[in-house]
Amino acid sequence: MARKALSIPTLSRRLKAAYPDARCALDHVDPFQLVVATVLSAQCTDARVNLTTPALFQRFPDAAGLAQASIPELEALIRSTGFFHNKARNLKAMAIALLERHGGVVPGDMAALAALPGVGQKTANVVLANAFGVPALPVDTHIFRVARRLGLSEANTPEKVEADLCRLFPREDWIDLHHQLIIHGRRVCDARKPDCPGCPLRDQCPTGLGTIPDPHSGLVLDAPSGPARKLAAPVAEAGPGGPMRIVSLVPSVTELLAQWGLASRLVGRTTFCVEPRWIRNTVPAMGGTKNPGLPRILSQRPDLVILERDENTREAAQALEAAGIPLLVLTIRSLKDCAKAFRILGDALGVPEAGRAREASLKALPKPARRKGRRALALIWKDPWMSAGPDTYVGDLLKQAGLAPVGPGGYPAFTDAELAALEPQVILLPDEPFRFTRRHAEDLRKRLPGTHVVQVPGRAFTWYLSRTEEAIKQLNDLLKELP
Ligand code: SF4
Repeated sequence: MARKALSIPTLSRRLKAAYPDARCALDHVDPFQLVVATVLSAQCTDARVNLTTPALFQRFPDAAGLAQASIPELEALIRSTGFFHNKARNLKAMAIALLERHGGVVPGDMAALAALPGVGQKTANVVLANAFGVPALPVDTHIFRVARRLGLSEANTPEKVEADLCRLFPREDWIDLHHQLIIHGRRVCDARKPDCPGCPLRDQCPTGLGTIPDPHSGLVLDAPSGPARKLAAPVAEAGPGGPMRIVSLVPSVTELLAQWGLASRLVGRTTFCVEPRWIRNTVPAMGGTKNPGLPRILSQRPDLVILERDENTREAAQALEAAGIPLLVLTIRSLKDCAKAFRILGDALGVPEAGRAREASLKALPKPARRKGRRALALIWKDPWMSAGPDTYVGDLLKQAGLAPVGPGGYPAFTDAELAALEPQVILLPDEPFRFTRRHAEDLRKRLPGTHVVQVPGRAFTWYLSRTEEAIKQLNDLLKELP
C-alpha cells in the first residue's frame, strides 16, 4: 500500500530526469534472443549474459537451431552464467516447444509465453514488455528493494509488490518505470550501501529520510547523513493467531514455513535460508546459522526465533534469551524427532492442522526392516572425510530405507584408511554441505572397488522437515536401482 506523503507524479518525473535512457540491459535483436537472454539472466548479471550470448546466438540463431543443440555443447556455451545444466535443458526444451506449438516464433501473449519450459510469468512479462511493448512491470530483486524502501509497497512477495506498483502508476509508465527502478537500484539504492545523500528521490523516500526502518536491512538510515543506527529492541509479544514476527535460523524450517503459507510472518532468516528461492528477495538475511547477526535480529523485534540444537550455537540461543526474545529450539536427530517437531511447530505457529497432517504422514511410514541391510556411509565433507553418523537425522533416513549406517555417532572425521576400514557397501554423496561431484564419485569407486557410490541431491537428503518425505522417496528410488 502506498504511503500518502509520497507524490507519484514527482517520483515519475525525477526518475525520468535521472535515467532518461533507461532500457532493457539484455542485448537482443528479436524476441527469440530476448527470451533466451532472459532465461540465462536468472541468478546472473546482465553484463555476464551479454558476454555469453553473442557466441550462443551465432551458433544457434533461432529456435530451429537451438532445438537441435546437443546439451553438452549448449552447456559449454552458457557455463559462465551459472546453473548451466538446468538452463541448457530449459533452453532446448523451450526451443522445441516454440517449434511444435508456434512454428518457431515467440508468441506475443502471456499465457502462451509463460507456458514455455523455463519461462514462467516473470520472464514472460520481461519479454512482453521489451519485445512486444505490452505494458508490464515484472519485479526483480532491485525493484523489490527500491519499491519497499520508497514506501511504494509494504508487501512481502514480488507478486504483491508488482500489484501495488501497477495500482499506483499509470499503465503507460510501467515499462519505463521497470527499467528506471532497476537502474536506480543498481547505481544508487544499493542493497548494502544505499547512497541516500546523493539520491534524487531522497525527499520522497521514508527510508532515506529515516522515518521508517530500511525494509531490506531492518536498520534506520540516519537523516540527513551519518551511519545507520540500530533500532531499540522492545520485545514483541505473539498475538492470538501465533507469532507474527518470526526469525528462522534454520534453512529447512524457513522452507517449511513457506510451505505452510506463513512466509509473510518471517522478518528474518539466515544467509543459508535460500528456499523457496523468492525468500531471498522478500525476507532479510541476518548472518549465518552459526554466526547470526544478533543486533539485526533484535532490531526486527521478533516475537519468536526458531533454532535447532545442532544447526545453531548455544551462544546465540543464550544471547537471544538474555535479550528476552521467545525461542523455539528444536532437536532433530531422527524421523521421530521430525514427527514431534511438526506438531510442536504447528501448535506454536497457530496452524495445528498443518503440523498434525505432516506428523501423521511420517508416522504412517512403514517400519524399517528388522534385518540389517547393506553397510552404508553418508559422507558430508572431504579433506578430511566426514560422515553423518548412525545417530543423526541422515543416519535415521538410511535406517528407514533399510540400510545399516556405519561409523561413529555424530559427525566424525576420518582418514582414507579409516574410511576403507569401515568397509561400506554403499556410499552416499550429497551435493551439500560439501559439493561432491561425479569426479569425487569416480575417485571413490576406484579407491573402494565393489562399493556402490551413489550421488544424492543434498537438500532433499539433509533438509529435515521441509523435505523429509521427499528424501525417503528419493532414497528408496535410488536404492531400487542398485544391483
Ligand atoms: S533515499 Fe536512499 S533508500 Fe531511498 S531510494 Fe534513495 S538511495 Fe534508496
